[in-house]
Amino acid sequence: MTSERNRKRLVSRLMEEGIVDQRVLRAIGTVQRHRFVDEALANMAYRDTALPIGHGQTISQPLIVARMTEALLEAGPFERVLEVGTGSGYQAAVLAEITDQVLTVERIRPLYQRAGRLLRELGYHNVRLRQSDGSWGWPQLGPFERIVVTAGGSQIPAALRDQLAPGGVLVIPVGPPGRQELVRLSRQGTDWHEESLGLVSFVPLVSD
Ligand code: SAH
Repeated sequence: MTSERNRKRLVSRLMEEGIVDQRVLRAIGTVQRHRFVDEALANMAYRDTALPIGHGQTISQPLIVARMTEALLEAGPFERVLEVGTGSGYQAAVLAEITDQVLTVERIRPLYQRAGRLLRELGYHNVRLRQSDGSWGWPQLGPFERIVVTAGGSQIPAALRDQLAPGGVLVIPVGPPGRQELVRLSRQGTDWHEESLGLVSFVPLVSD
């Protein structure tokens, strides 16, 4: 089967799982997930499952990428988003299909380098990468309308709260490694609203 047919099947599956946002479905139907995993795993790239990407890290399950992206969009469209945990670069590419500018931070140098090369090669020139501890956000470029964290910590890093613009939304897994609650934190002026979007399983958010 061609990868395009595989992607269409994956999109149908995500619709069955309750993903409704057309922008998200179109992005997942467009981004070549098989390019973001090792060639030896490319035949599994369109299954709805997380896969290893080396250095003890994983590319997230497509359903979770879709849910998180949908959770960002539910609060309205946005022009710029900060992602913490670039990993393979897949989630960044999905976001780049939807918004004008994606900023993404990864602490592991080889992953940061590989994702940067691949995103450039695939033509995602609206993604800017940085190698650093993303628990500190990207202070020089904040505040952000949207922040998404693709690794889980025991709490929401204070710096990320601080870098959330008024009207902004932060989506982050919170809890012990492999068993976190996906939390959406919204900021309305001086009011903060926190809601749970269900259980997820992410690699740990590591602070250096
Ligand atoms: N969004 C990724 C999923 C990667 S898994 C994708 O689509 O492939 C989570 C990533 O977060 C890992 O690459 C891990 O190294 C990174 N990470 C963990 N703690 C971090 C931190 N404090 N700052 C930046 N990246 C971090």
